[in-house]
Amino acid sequence: MDWSRQVSIKNSAEIAIMREAGRINATVLATVRELLQPGVSTLELDAAAESVLRKHGAVSPFKGYGHPPFPNSITVSINDELVHGIPSPKRKLKEGDIVSIDCGTFFEGYVADSAISAGVGEISPKAADLLQVTEQALHIGIAQMRSGNKTGDISAAIQKFVESHGYHVTREYTGHGVGRQMHEGPQVPNYGTPGTGILLRPGMVIALEPMVLVGTHKTKVLGDKWTVASADRSLTAHFEHSVAVTEGDPLILTVL
Ligand code: MG
Ligand code: MG
Repeated sequence: MDWSRQVSIKNSAEIAIMREAGRINATVLATVRELLQPGVSTLELDAAAESVLRKHGAVSPFKGYGHPPFPNSITVSINDELVHGIPSPKRKLKEGDIVSIDCGTFFEGYVADSAISAGVGEISPKAADLLQVTEQALHIGIAQMRSGNKTGDISAAIQKFVESHGYHVTREYTGHGVGRQMHEGPQVPNYGTPGTGILLRPGMVIALEPMVLVGTHKTKVLGDKWTVASADRSLTAHFEHSVAVTEGDPLILTVL
């Protein structure tokens, strides 16, 4: 993937545009979440997402991204699939699945990036626990996004919390700065050491994204060259928000 590692500091006007992009992104995810029912194809979810983006004058930065070019506007990853699942008319949701939807919004020159995981119908207590721990890990990471902290403080807080629940964090895929580019610096892994890494400053925007696996931290890329699944096929979950560092509390951009 083509990762630009430069850290950019956004001014308040840029943050305001990114907040609008984030609101659109949250609208897409809320719309898709309503559609999570048995029998719905993952391509139908993509079509719904694309129509919300279009209605708001936005497009997905995912479409055409990478090599081979990603074909759709959202990624849909089910159960053992951790991230980057390709929507398909043949892939239908089933009762008890847990589905991760990752969405990007490109709006007025800026990107917002966020993801949710949710169940289809009734899910197992184990799956529900995984979802809860992963979402909580995201908010524990966000709480570390204060001016003067370092990226390692975020990474370490996420890892410690996830591992205290007996789960694992991925090593190969990370959080990242976001702005004019979908992937900017700094890179923010879901594991690390407190007090290390890049100093956080007001105006930095980071897409923080705990990716959590039940069995081991190991992943593999499937034959479609995009879908990343747990190596042992155990359940996985993923939550993400784009968040700005401010003079005070972290500002979550990808909410309604
Ligand atoms: Mg994302
Ligand atoms: Mg991301």
